[in-house]
Amino acid sequence: MQVYKFGGASVKDASGIINLSEIVRKNRETPLLIVVSAMGKTTNALEKLTRAYVDQADDMQFIFEEIKQYHYEILHQLFAPNHAVFDEVENTFVEIEWTIEDEPHDDFDFIYDQIVSIGELVSTRIVNAYLNKAGIASQWLDVRGYIHTDNTYREGKVDWAKTKQSIQQDVPALLQKGVVVTPGFLGGTSENFTTTLGREGSDYTASIFAACLNADSVTIWKDVPGVLNADPKLFEATVKYDELSYAEAIEMTYYGASVIHPKTIKPLQNAKIPLLVKPFLHPEEPGTIISETQHIVFNTPVIIVKQNQVLLSISTKDYSFISEDHLSEIFGLFASTHTKVNIMQNSAVSFTVCFDDAPEKFEKLMLGLQPAFRVKYNTELSLITVRHYKQGLLKELTTGKIVLLEQISRNTVQMVVK
Ligand code: ASP
Repeated sequence: MQVYKFGGASVKDASGIINLSEIVRKNRETPLLIVVSAMGKTTNALEKLTRAYVDQADDMQFIFEEIKQYHYEILHQLFAPNHAVFDEVENTFVEIEWTIEDEPHDDFDFIYDQIVSIGELVSTRIVNAYLNKAGIASQWLDVRGYIHTDNTYREGKVDWAKTKQSIQQDVPALLQKGVVVTPGFLGGTSENFTTTLGREGSDYTASIFAACLNADSVTIWKDVPGVLNADPKLFEATVKYDELSYAEAIEMTYYGASVIHPKTIKPLQNAKIPLLVKPFLHPEEPGTIISETQHIVFNTPVIIVKQNQVLLSISTKDYSFISEDHLSEIFGLFASTHTKVNIMQNSAVSFTVCFDDAPEKFEKLMLGLQPAFRVKYNTELSLITVRHYKQGLLKELTTGKIVLLEQISRNTVQMVVK
């Protein structure tokens, strides 16, 4: 069997959904499970709605109406007005209505997951209905009953044993009857609350299903020709890799290459399942294949840019040495605020850390650090990582910029720049 994952860009409008159905129609020799993200930029819009609800902002209803409108316009282009999918979608949106009618709960992450998850619940209903309309037998699977997580909202940790058991129990039989369509990005807790797996987590969903079902391959359909050496939005001349090893792909995603969610590769590597990254607008093209291969020579360096970074310097109040006890306290705060460290450096009297700027986490982190430490920081920085670097390229990348921190190893250079 195979697993396909379609991201938001591939289902952003009616023609995207029609294109998806054509790709599925041409690839039905083996059973197929399809993981779908929220349509277009819906997750961002739902994040805005969550904020507006928590702040009880005046534009809350307006934001919600816009999200509904966007989906209904697409529905009207694909289905006759009396089609059952209209009720399915309406009933899913009603779940948000119920949530936002009440006073906001004080657990932001919990509210976030209950609201933001609607994007995938709606997109998959639409895709599933369209496949059936196009004559491709398809069933919708509520992923929340199959991917079991703990209650770390916004970053649900998967209970692999339970997940495997649920998936193996039901999904193979469903796949015999036709295509199975399921939401990406979501999981469910033992109390039946919805969780999300972290932004861009639908790739990970595909990888979980593939590992549990021992799939022949996973294909991630994207709006780029495959895995590129740099982000085409930031760099003009990019090069596509035909082949990558799991190890290289893990490194790339770890450093922030947004082409694949970082948690996606490991389960596939363990199960030796190849991962293909292919362009949804040119499905006949080979894309990139990620597998166990070892023999790749890197002629083209990988350039990864993470924007919106904070560089924080922590010292003791009396400028004494940073001891292991201090480090333990500092790391404890990073863990409890779920702040992921992108790069760090230690000197006698200070400890410097670079991480993504996320205002709510940053506020909590500062509240924890300031009573015990002296803290200085810079914002709006970029973290540039280059793998398989060449000196000339490094110069080019930093021209006109101030390098605030640099770390070099045999294969990788990382620079925090302003
Ligand atoms: N819709 C979610 C997001 O935008 C998950 C995904 O697309 O992978 O982060």
